[in-house]
Amino acid sequence: MKAMILETLQELTPDSEPLKYVDWTDPEPQSDEVVIRVAACGVCHTELDEIEGRLIPPSLPIILGHEVIGYVESVGHDVTQHRIGDRVGVGWIYSSTGDSDENLDPTFQGTGCDHHGGYAEKMSVPARYAYPIPELFKDAEAAPLMCAGSIGYRALKLTQCYDGDPIGLTGFGGSAHLVLSLIHHLYPRSPVSVFARDAESRQFALNLGASWAGPIEATAPVPLKAIIDTTPAWKPVVNALRNLQPGGRLVINAIRKEARDQEELLLLNYHEHLWMERQIQSVANITHYDISEFLKIASEIPIRPTIKTFPLQEANQALRDLKFKPTRGANVLVMS
Ligand SMILES: [Zn+2]
Repeated sequence: MKAMILETLQELTPDSEPLKYVDWTDPEPQSDEVVIRVAACGVCHTELDEIEGRLIPPSLPIILGHEVIGYVESVGHDVTQHRIGDRVGVGWIYSSTGDSDENLDPTFQGTGCDHHGGYAEKMSVPARYAYPIPELFKDAEAAPLMCAGSIGYRALKLTQCYDGDPIGLTGFGGSAHLVLSLIHHLYPRSPVSVFARDAESRQFALNLGASWAGPIEATAPVPLKAIIDTTPAWKPVVNALRNLQPGGRLVINAIRKEARDQEELLLLNYHEHLWMERQIQSVANITHYDISEFLKIASEIPIRPTIKTFPLQEANQALRDLKFKPTRGANVLVMS
């Protein structure tokens, strides 16, 4: 099969080519696994963390990618839940305990990090971590649901908001634009304020129904009950805390924060940013419950992710665009 592999960690520049297009051995299913013929794989910010070494894969080379949509090609002896030809998706959770807190367990394994992922024509995965994909989604548009959407759903649950609570989103890329649709569906009376660096993303948010959009350092029209931060930076954290109501909660949905602007944290003022029971909560990984629940809700809405597709061989371009260009939605690799 063909695959894009990561052999060495590096800082991604506007013309670097971190992944190599190669011939790779086809995967064979273990007794509890399925092998999937990949149709599409979304490009997630976590891949930048892996390439640039903030989240180091245990062994190299590795095939990245954890927003996978494909068709079951073969199944292990013990697999009962999927048949050959079924369409399934795979997210960031490759395997864990199956318990409700499996995202936090030390045995948690990540797709495209601890095991080869979906930047390839085929991949294998334990059958319980492959999910049926609702029919109404096309392959490529379903891909961002597997991480950006599912983990956005987990982040929204962790805000502990109720319908009517004003909610903020900091950063407006692959995950946040799906969370906005989720909020409209689950909390229809909640106004949504969006903080984004560039004017294009702010306009995109307003087009999708945000009630207000402003730059990262702006003050929202009303104090917010919760804010979900999906940026890789620190400045938005300090600003978000300033925009919270007393008792409000900042949910940081990012596996790693970049060190570049860490000195912004020195601006943290206890009275202004934390006093009055303001809280900070991180989001770690994902459970199979989150993904299954989210796919059901996504098909009820139905969520329609905004995507831009690239052939597998152009994964490097898709990654550079993610880092250097303001994105409108999600970049997705499609296999020929
Ligand atoms: Zn992801």
